[in-house]
Amino acid sequence: MSDQTNATETHSFQAEVGRLLDIVANALYSEREIFLRELISNAADACDRLRYRALTAPELIEGDTEFAIDLSTDAEAGTLTLSDNGSGMTHDELVENLGTIAKSGTSNFMQQLTGDAKKDVSLIGQFGVGFYSAFMVSSKVEVTSRAAGDDAAFTWTSDGKGAFTIDPASRDGRGTTIVMHLKDDAKEFLEEQRLSHIVKTYSDHIPLPIRFHGPAPELPGAEDEEKVVDVGPRQLNEASALWTRSKFDIEDEQYTEFYRHVSHGFDEPSMTLHFRAEGVIEYTGLIFIPTARPFDLFHPDRKSKLKLYVRRVFITDECEDLVPSWLRFLRGVIDSEDLPLNVSREMLQNNPVVAKIQAGLIKRIISELTKMAEKDAESYEAFWDAFGAVIKEGVYESAEHRDALLKLVRFKSTTQPGLVSLAEYIERMKEGQNEIFYITGEDAEVLEKSPQLEGFNAKGVEVLYMTDPVDEFWIGQVPEFEGKALKSVTRGSAALTDIKAEDADKDGEDKPEESADDAMEISALVTALKGSLGDAVKDVRKTDRLTASPCCLVADEGAMDIHLERLLKQHNQLNQSSPRILEINPDHALIKAMAAKATENMDDAAQLLLDQARIMEGETLPDPAAFARRMTDVMTKALG
Ligand code: ADP
Ligand code: MG
Repeated sequence: MSDQTNATETHSFQAEVGRLLDIVANALYSEREIFLRELISNAADACDRLRYRALTAPELIEGDTEFAIDLSTDAEAGTLTLSDNGSGMTHDELVENLGTIAKSGTSNFMQQLTGDAKKDVSLIGQFGVGFYSAFMVSSKVEVTSRAAGDDAAFTWTSDGKGAFTIDPASRDGRGTTIVMHLKDDAKEFLEEQRLSHIVKTYSDHIPLPIRFHGPAPELPGAEDEEKVVDVGPRQLNEASALWTRSKFDIEDEQYTEFYRHVSHGFDEPSMTLHFRAEGVIEYTGLIFIPTARPFDLFHPDRKSKLKLYVRRVFITDECEDLVPSWLRFLRGVIDSEDLPLNVSREMLQNNPVVAKIQAGLIKRIISELTKMAEKDAESYEAFWDAFGAVIKEGVYESAEHRDALLKLVRFKSTTQPGLVSLAEYIERMKEGQNEIFYITGEDAEVLEKSPQLEGFNAKGVEVLYMTDPVDEFWIGQVPEFEGKALKSVTRGSAALTDIKAEDADKDGEDKPEESADDAMEISALVTALKGSLGDAVKDVRKTDRLTASPCCLVADEGAMDIHLERLLKQHNQLNQSSPRILEINPDHALIKAMAAKATENMDDAAQLLLDQARIMEGETLPDPAAFARRMTDVMTKALG
């Protein structure tokens, strides 16, 4: 803290924060009462943080060990005041936390705004821009804060329009006081009844007393004691940690509100697990699976957010070893009886107690998900849509749980509506089929049109769509499921000949035998194509994979799958392509016609055939100009 003069400092909001404030302040949100939940949640966080620091530095809370949140109003001034005795903020923290450093959530939030006011405000909390919600109801906000262990206090003041000021101030003791000058249309937040109702609805479970003080407020440093008509504080919330209560005493709505508090979400939990583990180690868990995907689920840090408490004291929500990253969608609380209260965050690494909690938690979650998949397929599908891609990371990463997780994995498929499991797939396999076929790509709708599927579709052979980027990776770890190999339809030969179709008409078994002449012509064509295409392809061969298309590309048996290669190239992990195999459909009119002229020069036709197969793959052509020239020639001849 360099220049703490006694003068007012003016700071501009960081650009993104400024835009966010515009949105928050100017929209008339029906749910604007959530500002109180956000501020209470910040106050409770500040108390949690200080309580944790005081485990090793007890002098920080000396003389004031009862954490609490106090609300008061001043009808005349039109102000609502919220005060806590938590960690407080230093001068620099006020500047950074409340205006100049846009949190990672801010730009994400801005991008996801829909223009639908109701939806947008519900995003505010989730994106960690909670403090600014004070401007939904205030024309001016003053935040006076004194950091624990500091003597100096400062006041942050803003009308939410572009800038804020910082002034030296005084405050009795540590903590933060927020004075909100309520907008004319927000005077309802002066009423005790209204405030009490909001606190009960959203903040009942906050394990600190939230108290309402009589109509006249006790502003920090208020001199005039006589004017204060205090009828004594009224506690508005239950103030006991929800997870310590018996589940029989807890209503669904209370669970939901607690879930929203810990997750910053506005959805309902899709699963609530409230349990006590007893035995070698003891802990209580109150764990939720969200309904909606958190916006940062695929953030590269893949951090989990479960909160770790030790005997009711918050320790951290960044304990990497508490949950594996493939369960990072879990929200909630673990409260351990065994860890020492003065545990430091460093001590949590490679900690045997934490490891046991993690092992127990994984087992419990897998077993609950398995139950849900068996008993309530519809809910399970919704779960899978939201979080399946994350579970698949577990298949890749966790050799220990791979088998159990594979049973939970679901896919879209070419022959079935909804989602199918590997076990269901195996049950439906055709006679003569020994492999589990799949195709990888960005989305099922595009894949549906892949030429490589034609032969499978004609025989009614089911193919699984693998459309999550992670699919390419876990499949590499899973050569088979229950003795059946997993096989990509875009790699290696098609292996369709041995599979019996249900409907013999469809699969071409009645197809007239290929005459010896035809066969000779096709092999002459194959030779000609190889000669023309040279190194551009690894091989040329005929296939029974195709019915409608003349040709397609596949990867060689031992090579990387086509989609994986494209994925790695997009992420600059790979800079050259391996040549593919061009497969041709001997029954297609074009191939037949080409075969009849296999002795003539094939160069242009061969290139066009290859380019066509590339286009079908969604690839960019290496030489589009040459393609256009050849195409023009062909069309000119055809039309001339
Ligand atoms: P979030 O709570 O998700 O971090 P907020 O916008 O609600 O986002 O708050 C921004 C930051 O301001 C908090 O992370 C915290 O560092 C600080 N802060 C807000 N309120 C308080 C408070 N009452 N006491 C101490 N720090 C606070
Ligand atoms: Mg907050």
